[in-house]
Amino acid sequence: MTGRFITFEGIDGAGKSTHLEWAEAWLGQQGLGVVITREPGGTPVGEAIRALLLNPGSEMLAETEALLVFAARYEHIQTVIRPALDAGHWVLCDRFTDATLAYQGGGRGVDRDRLLALGQWVQGSLQPDRTFLFDASIGVAQARMAGRDIADRFESEAAQFHQRVRQAYLDLATEHSRRFRIIDSTRSIDMIRETLAQQLTELLEEPC
Ligand code: ADP
Repeated sequence: MTGRFITFEGIDGAGKSTHLEWAEAWLGQQGLGVVITREPGGTPVGEAIRALLLNPGSEMLAETEALLVFAARYEHIQTVIRPALDAGHWVLCDRFTDATLAYQGGGRGVDRDRLLALGQWVQGSLQPDRTFLFDASIGVAQARMAGRDIADRFESEAAQFHQRVRQAYLDLATEHSRRFRIIDSTRSIDMIRETLAQQLTELLEEPC
């Protein structure tokens, strides 16, 4: 039996983590085994890479950043995601390769073909079964982040950077419209939960 792989994407402050936790509880209530994880991270070495990537003091080239993200992803897929799916669990992941295409590709301008080649190498045939893109304007997302502690290396980027990331995500959603569901994240948390419940029910009913 193989579980399903669901990714949660969007700019910081869009609401991914809030709804990922809720989806975990909802799927658990349906009697499913659920694993939640995140990128970059999800493994000891991945979390160490995450700390390096988010540290505002880490100066590095955009390509170095992309390679680090994919190194963390390889470890994550091999030791966490694949084994969980093979055990029949549903894996909910806060960011995955679409984030690399959006942040390192759209945001930083790393060559897309290089990112796609790395994705091919690191993921093989693994693709998310569904990707929820939490979409909100930069202004709304930043207002929600206002109470957070010190901004990390990505959060402290200029609004234009986040605008490019948001647009790259929307372009990916158009390109992969069967896999993506765009969630209008400016709506209330309750309304979003209702939409997510409907979309998770659809996925539950779809044959593997
Ligand atoms: P992300 O994981 O995408 O960075 P979070 O889930 O941490 O975003 O949400 C950022 C903040 O915005 C949190 O304080 C959360 O409670 C709040 N939030 C999330 N979704 C909504 C929403 N639909 N309406 C109002 N506030 C929200």
